[in-house]
Amino acid sequence: MNKIDFQCIIIGAGPAGARAAYELSKIQKDILIIDYRDKLGDKLCTGIIGKNCADEFGLDKDLIYHEANSADIYSPDNNHYSLHSKDSKAMIIDRVEYIKRLTKLAKNNGVKIYKNSRVQSISINNNKVQLSYKSLNKIYNVTSKTIIIASGLENKLLTDINLNPLDKKHILNGSQIIIKNHLNIKNTKVFLGSKYGPQGFGWTVPINQNKLLIGVLTKGKSKEITKSFMKNLLDQYQIKKTDTKEIKSWGIPIKPIEKTYAERTLVIGDAAGLVKPVTGGGIYYSQLSGKIAAEIIHKALSENSFNEDALAEYEIKWKNKIDSEIKRGNKMREILFNFSDQKLSQLLNFSLTNKLILKILLSKEISFDNHFKSFEKFIYNKNIIKIYSDSKSKLIKSIIPSLKKHILN
Ligand SMILES: Cc1cc2nc3c(=O)[nH]c(=O)nc-3n(C[C@H](O)[C@H](O)[C@H](O)COP(=O)(O)OP(=O)(O)OC[C@H]3O[C@@H](n4cnc5c(N)ncnc54)[C@H](O)[C@@H]3O)c2cc1C
Repeated sequence: MNKIDFQCIIIGAGPAGARAAYELSKIQKDILIIDYRDKLGDKLCTGIIGKNCADEFGLDKDLIYHEANSADIYSPDNNHYSLHSKDSKAMIIDRVEYIKRLTKLAKNNGVKIYKNSRVQSISINNNKVQLSYKSLNKIYNVTSKTIIIASGLENKLLTDINLNPLDKKHILNGSQIIIKNHLNIKNTKVFLGSKYGPQGFGWTVPINQNKLLIGVLTKGKSKEITKSFMKNLLDQYQIKKTDTKEIKSWGIPIKPIEKTYAERTLVIGDAAGLVKPVTGGGIYYSQLSGKIAAEIIHKALSENSFNEDALAEYEIKWKNKIDSEIKRGNKMREILFNFSDQKLSQLLNFSLTNKLILKILLSKEISFDNHFKSFEKFIYNKNIIKIYSDSKSKLIKSIIPSLKKHILN
């Protein structure tokens, strides 16, 4: 048998691939990461992670731009509500440096990293995987016993191994621009309503005194919507005119692909569609799936067993952890983001001006990482049920029974 170059090749060094490489490197030798970028981790992202993610995967304090313990929510009728919690639920981090450090840890454990190298094709035969990649206009071939596909939304490679990429209708469009934070805006602001397109919302996130991120996530045309959103902000906050050519766009999958494993192969992170569907945050689930993939690949290599049955355990494991959150989170997204502007404004006004509701919403029970579990706790809280059912408004009175009916069934 010809020599096989690597035990595992990981395609992509975003949060998913970098985490998988690091976890696998603790227990396995001969690992390669291939990524076409020069600056690893530099993919369009706001860099917000929740506390659970930081607790579970660690976070160097100097990577935190700031802790997000307050936010302003803007309703479609342009009222705004300031939320402030004692404990921080999320933080805005330097994502590029975060990934850089993670890949450095993997490298220190012996992982090889080929940057500026794009995988072109994958073929699998009885005893190995063969990849061809392009670097500096030359094509190279490399072999491995196993592969982890962590290539994010660029998942054309899936068809090489007979897996189906996600249908476009399950991909949200994100756009974002970095501008100077002239007014020294300190709070994250979230903007809701039909202006942001179908199922859309907008945000401004200060990352430090100098930089402000402005972005939109929507089922509509995110770039166009970001342009008009910026125009509004320019007037409202007297932000200096910025070149809209700087707006960047990228997709976010909100549904897992049908199957996330094949012979000798696991698919993780955005490539597998593992994202929190309410906010579109994927840094946490990417790493969760990366860590599980490392464990299963190690097991397969130890047992010399690479068929689908051996690798199916990966899917069972990630499903145990996050499948219900993703499925129910999707239902929540569809219902909450399809409210009419009027209904949403009324609901926000009722909810975010009530001190007890705010106290419960901002309590430790409610997590930025588990939207559905938090939502479930919220709607089963006796005080919450009473507040809503005592309301004289028909809409407010019916909201909890209606959400229960549509999301829990
Ligand atoms: C506008 C926007 C804002 C976001 N904000 C947040 C946020 O605040 N918090 C959050 O949690 N999530 C956020 N996300 C989502 C988050 O960025 C992704 O879920 C996350 O990056 C997924 O990680 P990944 O490793 O699976 O994929 P990626 O980060 O996309 O990494 C994939 C890597 O694979 C490489 N690659 C692709 N194809 C090939 C190939 N053929 N050969 C070699 N290399 C290849 C790419 O260069 C890339 O480095 C945001 C997304 C967008 C679009």
